Amino acid sequence: MTNIILLGPPGAGKGTQARKLVEERGMVQLSTGDMLREAKTSGTEMGKRVAEVMDRGQLVTDEIVNGLIEEKLKTAGGNGFIFDGFPRTLPQADALGKLLAKIGSKLDAVIEMRVDDEALVRRITGRFTCGNCGEVYHDETKPTKVPGTCDVCGSHDLKRRADDNEDSLKTRLMEYYKKTSPLIGYYYATGDLFTVDGLAEIDDVARQMSAILDQQAS
Ligand code: AMP
Repeated sequence: MTNIILLGPPGAGKGTQARKLVEERGMVQLSTGDMLREAKTSGTEMGKRVAEVMDRGQLVTDEIVNGLIEEKLKTAGGNGFIFDGFPRTLPQADALGKLLAKIGSKLDAVIEMRVDDEALVRRITGRFTCGNCGEVYHDETKPTKVPGTCDVCGSHDLKRRADDNEDSLKTRLMEYYKKTSPLIGYYYATGDLFTVDGLAEIDDVARQMSAILDQQAS
């Protein structure tokens, strides 16, 4: 069992790679962004509270996301966890270490996905996903084969995220550089950090990740 964090700015490809790891290795993806969006659409009290913050591109409180992860760790099983979009602050990183220790587990690797800002803007502004199966598409680089229909599950429920616009993206990038990028130094210091070239082709990035995972498992 290998537990990893995918670390990188919005649009680095964390979700895409996490989905591949789930499929290929039976790992469990824990995306706080997905959990928060679910809370938002299901109209829970917490969902209502975080909706505006998320749409603006700011981070929600550590308390909320730590709570979400704690709940999931109690119930989710599988061949290791992929933390996708969590932790995003140093207090969240601390909390994760403690939560994993509590269930007798630990972190094995933190994979930083490095991408330049220009590529992020291009990736984010063309991005859409299938509301049914979660497959990620892009207007230019990965359109659906039949317009309006998901290649994987055939659903017509294709949507864009409320925060995938240039204004929110600016805030999300600032939040990343101010609050999340210090985690790169933190995990370098703990000896857990690995870096992949997030600008490479999807399958190539996946190969780089697999090599790291195999090395950690052996
Ligand atoms: P994501 O899908 O990972 O890009 O997350 C979408 C939005 O959810 C972020 O811009 C934040 O508003 C919120 N969010 C997700 N994960 C976290 C986290 N670990 N800490 C704080 N806010 C988060």
